[in-house]
Order: sequence, then structure tokens, then C-alpha cells
Amino acid sequence: MINRKSKDDIKRLRHAGHIVALVHQKMKEVVEPGISTLELDAIARQVIKENRAIPTFFGYHGFPGAICASINEQVVHGIPSADVILKEGDIISIDVGATYGGFVGDSAWTYAVGKISEEKQKLMKVTEEALYAGIEKMRAGNVLDDISGAIEAVAQREGYGIVRQYGGHGVGRSMHEEPFLYNYRVGDHTLIKQGYVIAIEPMLNLGCDEVVVADDEWTVSTADKKASAHFEHTVLATDGEPMIMTKLME
Ligand code: MG
Ligand code: MG
Repeated sequence: MINRKSKDDIKRLRHAGHIVALVHQKMKEVVEPGISTLELDAIARQVIKENRAIPTFFGYHGFPGAICASINEQVVHGIPSADVILKEGDIISIDVGATYGGFVGDSAWTYAVGKISEEKQKLMKVTEEALYAGIEKMRAGNVLDDISGAIEAVAQREGYGIVRQYGGHGVGRSMHEEPFLYNYRVGDHTLIKQGYVIAIEPMLNLGCDEVVVADDEWTVSTADKKASAHFEHTVLATDGEPMIMTKLME
């Protein structure tokens, strides 16, 4: 069952999304060589708390952080740690969720740490482009495969790997609701309706599609150790333009 959101649901969801955007605004400021991912986690937690929201990730299936902090070849679910110190040339994907008024906003962004290689720069730019290509298709009357296909086309144009095991998802009262959204065409003709909210989140790799999970049972990395980027917004299908929930409110 896909849950259509009411006007009141959307209001609260939008507020949760705004708080998530505030966290990212702050992350953009503080990501620099020398900071640890545990420090980033504490800063994110502070922003969420100041805005009277709940860090959705903390305790989710036992996850110990408010953010997922995934560096370079790490794709998703990196655990914040005092031992992981950012250094010049790294890229870091920060994924964060905030719950406000019972609704969840979910958004991820990949940041450059100081000066990075052209190869990594392009990976970030293209993954962000893939996200917006997907968002463009989040329209009532389209099907899920339209979003998946738009993301896949951007990745294929550049010959990037597409992570297969993880993807987008419905979001609302819980972080993960139906439907699951693949980042490549699978022939899913589930109709998108007004009031659907989906977290769209391409994860693209410089190398192969394959990923492995570390011994900590969380951190997902590319099998070939090449860099990965992750961009995500929570998006509402309206009767008109797609509406991004996880951006700052004017
Ligand atoms: Mg996320
Ligand atoms: Mg998500």
C-alpha cells in the first residue's frame, strides 16, 4: 500500500524536510580537512535538536549515528567515528533524516573536502544531475520506471556504475515506506499519484555496480574501491510541478 499524504501531512513533512536542509546547510559549512565524522554527527544532532525534531537515523535498526557519513569508496551507511578524519581530496556522502510532527524528511548530499580530483568532481556533478532528472519525472500520471529510467540514462551516458541493492523509497510517517524505487529500469509500472512522497536517491560509482558490506554490518562500499556519490531529496508529486520537501523554506 502506498500512502497518499493529506495537506496536513505535507505541511509537517515539509517542516521536517526544512530541518534536514538546515543540517545540510551546516554540513556544507563545516566539512573540511581535519574534522572527524563523529564531530559532523554531533553538529547535525545539535541542529536537529535546536529545531525540536528527532534524528530519525539514530537507533534505526540499531544505527548509532544521526547521520550516515560515507567517504570515497563508501556508498552509504558509514558510521560516524572519531577515528575517521576528513582529508583534502576526499569526498563524503552525508545522509540525514529528521522527524518532526510524526513525519520524516530524508536527504543525502556528497561534499568535496578541500580540492578534489576532476574525476570525483564529475562523479558528484553527474550524480546530482541524475537526481534532478529523476525528480523531473515525479509527476502524477507517470510510473516509477520513468524515474528509474531517467536516473539510469544519466549514469549510462557517463559509463558509471549504478548501485543495485539500494534505492529510493516512499517516505512519510516512517522513513521507509512503499514503494521501493530502483535507480535503473526494472519495468515497474506503478502509477504515481498526487500526494505520493518518494525519497529519490541515485548512488553512482566511478567503477562497477557491485558493493560489499563491511564487518561492522553497516558500511557499504564499492567492490572495486572506486569512489561513489549519493544525492537524495524527498519529493512530493502534486497536480503540477514536483515539489522538493527537503530544501530550505523561504
Ligand atoms: Mg537518506
Ligand atoms: Mg532514503
